Amino acid sequence: MTEPIWLKEVKCPACDAVFKTPRVKPSVLKVKSSEPDFHKVYEDINPLLYAVTVCPECNYGARNDEFDDKTLEYHPEILKMARAIKESKKNIDFPQTKETDVETAVKKHLLAIMFAKHYKPEDPLTIAGLYMHLAWMYREQGNNEKDREYLKPALEYYIKTFEKGSHIPEKIGVPGIMYLAGELNRMFGNYNEAVLWFSRAVKYDQISNFPNIEHLARDAWEKITEEKRKEGK
Ligand SMILES: [Zn+2]
Repeated sequence: MTEPIWLKEVKCPACDAVFKTPRVKPSVLKVKSSEPDFHKVYEDINPLLYAVTVCPECNYGARNDEFDDKTLEYHPEILKMARAIKESKKNIDFPQTKETDVETAVKKHLLAIMFAKHYKPEDPLTIAGLYMHLAWMYREQGNNEKDREYLKPALEYYIKTFEKGSHIPEKIGVPGIMYLAGELNRMFGNYNEAVLWFSRAVKYDQISNFPNIEHLARDAWEKITEEKRKEGK
């Protein structure tokens, strides 16, 4: 059997340090269940723990594909931040081993968010996704308080993504972002806001291209109607 976790040697795009970082082979992942906010629970290995790469020397971090592919020559602010961390010697020296844990993954995600917020222009969808990872990692540990704490900025950045209207993945499209804004509002009990987003998603011009999203939005909307009926509102 092939090893599910492997160590990849990468070069930091901010400071050129060469280091090893753990990655998961996608072929070994098995989805056990999924939740309406697109959280997937996996058997055995949790890919969220390996989703972000952080340089142990300058602490520049990003989602793996971005870390591997992005060049930073046109992002002087990112380079400046990374240099300052490296020179201060206050960097977190992440272990270059296959073993990792939630605590390490959380630290890596927070660093990736800090850098992502300094990109010009900022990509709100990337930031929203990183916050969702944090919420899900805590949810899997049964920490509902931290789960909600990170869902809040995720919602804020999904709304920014919608307002900006660019870099939206084809798979879920604009209605997918509307649906997520609705679902997170629903999770927070903001039912009126949630219905507004679900109805926007369902009425979207090309919603027929996103049957899955339409189904999810109608389902969630129905849940709210049910909830309100029970409460006698
Ligand atoms: Zn670096």
